[in-house]
Amino acid sequence: MDQMTIAIVAHDGKKIDMVTFIRDNMDFFQRHNINLIATGTTGAHLEHAGLSVEKMLSGPLGGDAQIASRLVEKKVNIVIFFRDPLGKHPHEVDVSMLMRLCDVHNIPLATNPAAGLRFIQSLQLEFETQESK
Ligand code: PGA
Repeated sequence: MDQMTIAIVAHDGKKIDMVTFIRDNMDFFQRHNINLIATGTTGAHLEHAGLSVEKMLSGPLGGDAQIASRLVEKKVNIVIFFRDPLGKHPHEVDVSMLMRLCDVHNIPLATNPAAGLRFIQSLQLEFETQESK
């Protein structure tokens, strides 16, 4: 399988959940040939947790738009975006754009930890099947 790129984003109210999610699945992220990209602050958290990640600008400064741009160029395979449904976000239009483009281009999008975990479980199975061939 070609190298897979996963984009990771978390709104401020969900950053702790994202770090917990990453730590709980560290084996997966470290063991497989996965390229990670993230919005700026989320990316800094992931680095702090021990992952190497390509950081875009912070979300409110255009990081979500940068990820959307990569996505339409077919350079992103999966988006994990833990949204805070209870918060207000100055860059809501960018967030909507990113989600809309996931649908336009049929890119899997997980917006909460339960969905993120399902993605990882299915990828894990796919990787194991590849490895056993
Ligand atoms: P951030 O951006 O990772 O730079 O905080 C996330 C977002 O889009 O809110």
